[in-house]
Formats: sequence, structure tokens, C-alpha cells
Amino acid sequence: MTPDVLVVGAGPGGATAAAACARLGLRTLLLEEHPEVGTPTHCTGKLSVHAFARFGLPVALAQASLRAAALYAPDGTRAHVRRAALDSYVVDRHPFDRFLADRAAAAGAEVLTGARARSVAREGGRLRVEVDRRGGRLVVVTPLVIDAEGASPVLPAQLGVAPRRTLVHGLQYEMDGVRLEADDAPELYFGRDVAPGFFAWIMPTGPGRGRLGLAVDPRLTRRPPLYFLERLAAGHPVASRRVAGARVVRKLAGRIPILGLRRPTWTEGMLVVGDAAGQVKATSGGGIYFAMLAGELSAAAAARYLGGDPGALRAYESAWQAAFGREVRFTTIARQALNRLSDRHVSAIIRALATDADVRRAVEEHGDTQYQSRLLRPVLAAALRAGARDLTLAPTVAAALGAAMLSLWGDGAAPAGRA
Ligand SMILES: Cc1cc2nc3c(=O)[nH]c(=O)nc-3n(C[C@H](O)[C@H](O)[C@H](O)COP(=O)(O)OP(=O)(O)OC[C@H]3O[C@@H](n4cnc5c(N)ncnc54)[C@H](O)[C@@H]3O)c2cc1C
Repeated sequence: MTPDVLVVGAGPGGATAAAACARLGLRTLLLEEHPEVGTPTHCTGKLSVHAFARFGLPVALAQASLRAAALYAPDGTRAHVRRAALDSYVVDRHPFDRFLADRAAAAGAEVLTGARARSVAREGGRLRVEVDRRGGRLVVVTPLVIDAEGASPVLPAQLGVAPRRTLVHGLQYEMDGVRLEADDAPELYFGRDVAPGFFAWIMPTGPGRGRLGLAVDPRLTRRPPLYFLERLAAGHPVASRRVAGARVVRKLAGRIPILGLRRPTWTEGMLVVGDAAGQVKATSGGGIYFAMLAGELSAAAAARYLGGDPGALRAYESAWQAAFGREVRFTTIARQALNRLSDRHVSAIIRALATDADVRRAVEEHGDTQYQSRLLRPVLAAALRAGARDLTLAPTVAAALGAAMLSLWGDGAAPAGRA
């Protein structure tokens, strides 16, 4: 098999890259290791309205629409924010990924399922990729691989694209019979005992249905996510009431790469996109939209590279940095800062959001969950004003700023003790 481009992994990054490559007239082969695209599913499926508009996604793929959020602090304080505009939709990744792969096939890409790329090597100016398929072996020789293997890629390291990131471990129960407070508002639960190094959530997926989940940073706890999820379902003062009597219909497990960009995200003959490149918001774990954007940018670079532009692969990295690199960097710093704050400080921040109209207005006006860095200036200004008004809050504002400054020099979370 000798395609112009081999795309490895039929998640949102790979399927978008394959569709765009095929539309650009490149002979494209898309490999997916599982027998069916989109399963097993690991993701919560929250996807911003920007992604739907940018990629012409049908709203019929959405299970729920989100405008609001309720945040629960470690000390039980509840803050509620509601945006005037629609913020996001929630999708089921099985039909969603299938839709994207079908779109790639319709554009002319060949989609091969049950095909796992296991090794890559340079051979006469091309790449030779060995693929396991149904007990046999395929060999693909190609000038260019777009690697979209997800959170635990194997091929880039074989060509010297070194990994540098932290994987947080996620687990979710998809449930029927959930007593949601509102169908358009996810609930987020914070606390070192709730979900060390991340947070827990209930994501509405329709009336009476939702995904109860969390992720934990294994550097901050030795306990598995199951321990925390069971505790959340059985013992959290709010979450346990929401899911009392609800039925688990599906379990979803997966890893999210945060706190570290895999740079560079290219080498001669290979571009890395999506989770494989660490293109994820480290605050929330969201990576679908960035994977799709990077997929599209990688296809444009592929066409130029195969057309004879030797600088096209390097230019891919500058292109995605320009498109959303700032969000990846900002959320990485924010996550490191959050991980340095104590539960007392996190509670004080959520209390300020609950009680200070100025802070809440800043979040509601600027709190587009896709572009969190846009929050920085208005929320910082509101927090400083709130700290000046309410002297009990001042130490928290100072601690948050100090944590953010420290994290600029740090290389990850500075745990204040294991959970
Ligand atoms: C618990 C959890 C909740 C999440 N919630 C959200 C959310 O609400 N919103 C959001 O935006 N993001 C969320 N994410 C992150 C999101 O799932 C990823 O950022 C996104 O799927 C990245 O897309 P991708 O195409 O890079 O990788 P993936 O979606 O992981 O796709 C990679 C594909 O490659 C295939 N593959 C891997 N290796 C090979 C190989 N060697 N050969 C062939 N095929 C291979 C895999 O089977 C898979 O289909 C969540 C993640 C987790 C774990």
C-alpha cells in the first residue's frame, strides 16, 4: 500500500485530517485499530458551539445543549454561572466519530478498521509502517504519516518525537435516572478528596440522563479513579443525591494528556495531531476541537509538503500555535496554579464567584469555555477589585496570583499532600 498520506487513528483529529487530505486530492489511507470507529468510547463529549460552526457539524449529533454551570467548592459552597449565549453541545463519541470517519470516506479517503500501526522506520526517503490487521501484517510505504493515535501514541517516539506530558486518569458512569438540577448545566465538584489534581462532574446528556465522572492526577494520589468515583456516587453531599437510584448504562475510561506539549510536533515525514501532540486544555481536559483544527492544519501542510515545499512540516507547528497554542499554554499554567492552591483557597474563589456580582459578571460575559484565556484580564481585574473590597478574600487572590507566578517556573503540580 503506497498512499500519499497515511493517517493513523480515526478519532476527531485523524478523521478530520483524512477528510481534508482527500479533499485536497491526496490519496489518503486512514487506519483505526478497533473493529469499529468510535468505540470503545472514553470521553464526556462536551464540544463548543465554535466547533459545530467551524466544521459544519449537524446539531442532530448533540445530546444536550449547555449554557450554564454549577460549581461546588470543597467546603460545599455553590456558585452558578449562566451565559446569555449557547456555549457548548454534548455529543456521544461513538456516533460522532463515526460521522467524521464517514465524512472522510465520502471525501475519498480509504478507511481501514481493525488495523493497528505498530512500527515505523525510515526507508529510502519514505516511511515504512507495519500494521497488524486481523492476525496478519500489512506494510504501508508513504512519504508522510499524520499521527493521530490519541493519548498514548507509539509511532512518534520511534522517529524521535519525544513525549513530555502528564496523563490524568478519567472514569465515568453514563447513567439513566439522574436527578439533574438543569438539563443545560453541568455540575463540577472540586476538592483534593473529590478528584486530586482535576475535578469531578455530572454532564447532562438529556432529560434524566448524564455522565458522572472524574479524572485524577496519579502524581497526587495512589488510589485509582474508581475509588474516587464510587465515593462521589455514594458519599458526595450533592452528587450522591443526583444519582441516587440511577442506573449505570455504560462505563467510560480513558486518559487525558495535560501539562506538557510534545514539541516539536513534527519530524521529517511525520506530523503529530490531537492528544498525541498534547493539544488539550489542561484545565478541563477538552481536546476534541483542537484535534480537529490541528487535523485540518496538518492536511494543508501535507499538501504543501507533497507539492515540494520542504518547510511545510515546520510551518504546521507555527500554524497550530497561532490558531490555539495560547489556549494550551494558558490552561497549562492555570492547571499548575490550581494544583498548588489548597482546598481553602479553591473554596474562597468559588465563594467569590457565588457572592460577588462583579466577579460573576466577568465570568458570564467572558467565560467562553473554549477560549479560557479570554477570561484572564476581566476576571483578574474583578478579582483584584473584590480582594480590595473584601479583605478576607485578599489572601486568596494573592495566593492564586502567587501560584500562577510559581507555575510559570514549575514543571507540574506541587502537591500539598496526597489524597
Ligand atoms: C474521561 C475523558 C473525558 C473527556 N472529555 C472531553 C470533553 O468533554 N470534551 C473534549 O473536547 N475532550 C474531552 N476529552 C478529551 C478528548 O477525548 C480528546 O482530546 C480527543 O478525543 C482527542 O482526539 P484525537 O483524535 O487526538 O484522539 P482520540 O480521540 O483518542 O483518537 C485516537 C484514535 O486512534 C486510534 N489508535 C490509537 N493508536 C492506534 C494505532 N497504533 N493504529 C491505529 N489506530 C490507533 C484509537 O483507537 C482512537 O480511535 C476527554 C477525555 C477523557 C479521557
